[in-house]
Amino acid sequence: CFCKLQGEVDDCKCKVETLDSINNQKIYPRLQSLLSKDYFRYFKVNLKKTCPFWSDDSRCALKDCHVDMCNQDEIPPGLKGSEPTEKKYSKEAQDEDESCEEQKELGALNTTISDSTKEALRNWTKHDDTQETFCELDDDNSSECDYVDLLLNPERYTGYKGPSAHRIWRSIYEENCFKPQEDGSTPYSPQQSLAAVYIRSEMTGLCLEQRTFYRMISGLHTSINLHLSSNYLFQDKLGFGNIKWAPNTEEFLRRFDPVNEEQGPQRLKNLYFAYLVELRALIKAAPYILEEEFYTGNEEEDKDVKSGIRDLLTVIQQAPDQFDESKLFQGDPKEAKKLKEEFRAHFMNVSRIMDCVGCDKCKLWGKLQVQGMGTALKILFSGDQIGPHSTINASQKKKFQLRRTEIVSLFNSFGRLSSSVHSIEKFRHLLS
Ligand code: FAD
Repeated sequence: CFCKLQGEVDDCKCKVETLDSINNQKIYPRLQSLLSKDYFRYFKVNLKKTCPFWSDDSRCALKDCHVDMCNQDEIPPGLKGSEPTEKKYSKEAQDEDESCEEQKELGALNTTISDSTKEALRNWTKHDDTQETFCELDDDNSSECDYVDLLLNPERYTGYKGPSAHRIWRSIYEENCFKPQEDGSTPYSPQQSLAAVYIRSEMTGLCLEQRTFYRMISGLHTSINLHLSSNYLFQDKLGFGNIKWAPNTEEFLRRFDPVNEEQGPQRLKNLYFAYLVELRALIKAAPYILEEEFYTGNEEEDKDVKSGIRDLLTVIQQAPDQFDESKLFQGDPKEAKKLKEEFRAHFMNVSRIMDCVGCDKCKLWGKLQVQGMGTALKILFSGDQIGPHSTINASQKKKFQLRRTEIVSLFNSFGRLSSSVHSIEKFRHLLS
């Protein structure tokens, strides 16, 4: 029985039932169609980065962990150029004019300021950039970065488990999530299982921002494990080599037993929480996103993408009881600033931990989803405009910018969460 998976999502007003209905009937089908388009299916990523925290595990040799990189001729022509030249249709002339003007101004400035001022300006820009970024982005120009066709490398069961996978999760939860106070009054100890650390009663020892951080991570973990359970590899036991990818209800029950409140419903609700955060980010950035060209060089398809985006954003905006980011980082400004900085630094670490994942397929989807979440946080918490009705529009482009990789990861990551919510419905049917 899934009767415990209902009612309000923790720390939000929105109900699970409402989200099930709007996602499964309206958002999920639209996203599926959009994400199959070239703009969203090709993701540029560096899977060769060295793990910054421990010496890398030997590379996983599992067949299903392998990722097929694209050949140059598979990549749409419009994506091959460097990012600034990507937007080429209607507003091309206007954009180029603007950037020429900026270049001229900068050029004039460059000839009149001293080297030390230039250095200070460069540092200021660098500092300013990092202030609003919540995750580490791969350097697009690195020779180690390659395009991956996400449709040909779906997120599913790979067999990645054991100490390597546990080290990643442990390091995320125990070293980067905020913990209840260790003052003796709470029973947390590192020996406890991760599950025991964040049971609902102990979550009350954490503030809203800390709970938000945990719920987003746990929601991502739920989503990953739901995908591997719903796209599970069945091998025939007679040794004929037949294989089948299908939902595995036993695996689902082992991980999300719906009658075990702390394990099943609570973790599943965290998925809905992460979904609500990304949904709100899309709503907030909608005016900005609507101005994007989604340029791939295929005019027909790019037009389809633009109209698909418009349609999706219209549906998304109808979602009731959205996540309200204005409740976070309030109170004493000094404390709020400190907390926000901690939150950002912890999330940045989580994005770096993704380079330590020992299975390439898991690393690909892990990096993409964490980057998508990081982009959502950047949209919600950078700049002054924060609140239930705030938006980021195109006129703020000079102050606020999203790279293609951020847009692609945000939509794909929301697509993963949406597909996970949809798969709960599938398991509900299979188990009834
Ligand atoms: P794990 O999922 O490893 O969990 C470890 C512990 O965390 C559990 O014992 C439990 O105490 C706690 N926990 C579990 N779920 C939650 C939750 N939602 N919230 C809070 N706490 C929780 N495997 C694949 O087959 N395909 C993939 O694409 C894939 N991608 C991955 C991506 C990343 C970034 C990582 C780190 C792992 C990935 N894995 C993937 C591996 C998968 O997530 C599991 O680690 C693996 O299946 C082993 O599962 P487990 O039952 O030992 O528990």
